[in-house]
Amino acid sequence: EARFRAACTHLDDPAPTAWQTQIRGAVTDGFVNTSDTDPALPANQAWAEAIRAGLPCPDLGADTLDAATTDDAATVARVVAAGRAAGAEWASTPVEERVAALHRLGTELEAARSDLVRVAADEVGKLIDQADVEVSEACDFAHYYATLAAEQVEGATHVPPALVLVASPWNFPIAIPLGGVAAALAAGAAVILKPAPPARRIAALLIEACRRAGIPANAAQLLFVEDGPLGEQLITDDRVDQVVLTGAAETAELFRSWRPDLHLLAETSGKNAIVVTPSADLDLAAADLVYSAFGHAGQKCSAASLGILVGDVATSRRFLDQVLDAARSLTVAWPEEPLAEMGPLTEEPGEKLLRGLTELEPGQSWLLKPERLGDRLWRPGVRDGVRPGSEFHQTEYFGPVLGLMAARDLDEAIAWQNGTRYGLTAGLHSLDATEVQRWINRIQAGNAYVNRTITGAIVRRQPFGGWKRSAVGPGIKAGGPNYLTGFGHWEPAAPVE
Ligand code: GLU
Repeated sequence: EARFRAACTHLDDPAPTAWQTQIRGAVTDGFVNTSDTDPALPANQAWAEAIRAGLPCPDLGADTLDAATTDDAATVARVVAAGRAAGAEWASTPVEERVAALHRLGTELEAARSDLVRVAADEVGKLIDQADVEVSEACDFAHYYATLAAEQVEGATHVPPALVLVASPWNFPIAIPLGGVAAALAAGAAVILKPAPPARRIAALLIEACRRAGIPANAAQLLFVEDGPLGEQLITDDRVDQVVLTGAAETAELFRSWRPDLHLLAETSGKNAIVVTPSADLDLAAADLVYSAFGHAGQKCSAASLGILVGDVATSRRFLDQVLDAARSLTVAWPEEPLAEMGPLTEEPGEKLLRGLTELEPGQSWLLKPERLGDRLWRPGVRDGVRPGSEFHQTEYFGPVLGLMAARDLDEAIAWQNGTRYGLTAGLHSLDATEVQRWINRIQAGNAYVNRTITGAIVRRQPFGGWKRSAVGPGIKAGGPNYLTGFGHWEPAAPVE
């Protein structure tokens, strides 16, 4: 456990953090991670077992959540008023003190690693290894935004927003809410965290960590309301200066329809593809495609939902068998199961995902048919014959179903990859430098990855954000050097003579 705890985040290290879990070596058989934090490694088995033994854990975070839950409009208004007042005070706190508090927050999150992993597993069904890297990412966000604040706020003319609302999703229930909260606090704003309903107890743990780090209670508040009229009240309250949303593109549009002048910074949906050319290392491509498609059961905006196979790759029996064998052999189980490689869906599939898991369009066939094992557990599926312009080509399903397309050449593949309304992540597997350059010059995606998975962006090294319908706002990315400029009015410091 000591070794495990030491494996957190070192931003000055050229190869930082437990995120190495995501930068795996060449593997051909599903999720075979090589990092120190892989619970399958002997050194970490005891730690992972302890987490599993502590599941379920309904008491963790429950009191904080209860205190923050309301169905009363007057209470919501009071929370907003308190946040606004705290914002004025937090903004006038010396930058060094705010920075120190955020570094302490990073340390507190690290200390709470086991609880965070347990509640993420308990509440949304995250597997232990996936929750674990999220804790590392959350630590990174706290330390990184603290570092940016120290570098950028001093000397600059900066007027922060008084109050920011962070509306966070359930699929990354640790890193994404914490990233929004830490960025707003680093910029000098007070923040209200309103988590998605399936991930509310884990949000309570994050706010508890803020308290222990000495961040004033009203500067970082948790407020839990069910989506609906009280959500609308929060968004339309003009004492909320800014909303940071990670969620569906439709949710961003809904917020805008409620409040057209809303200052919204949003990372939204994706429809992401990995292109594989005949020059690729096909073993690596198969492993990365399967991991990108089925990690966290495909419930990532960054997930690969399409594999675009160029030329001979589309008919390579060996490549297809590798993909199908890897997908078929994944152990689908709850986080309590030590061998689990793909966990449950967080919610019962809605109408759209159910269509993706069960219905084919003309010309398509199942190479591997998704199979419901019970409750929210599904075996992954792979369909062939996806055509450009079809529903499957255009729709984000947010679940464990991958579609394959056969492209004539790289140009056709790029046209299909760019040919959706979204532009979040994109991948290319090719060992040909000319192809790689051609792809880089043309690809329309916020995060473009060559010869690796397309999930698992890393704070500071791979800032995360989208183009087109995958983002709302000025196009700055979470975990990147200019993210704080999305909060308030900035004039840069005068250049040093
Ligand atoms: N940052 C995550 C990744 O790189 C994706 C966030 C999301 O899916 O919402 O995989």
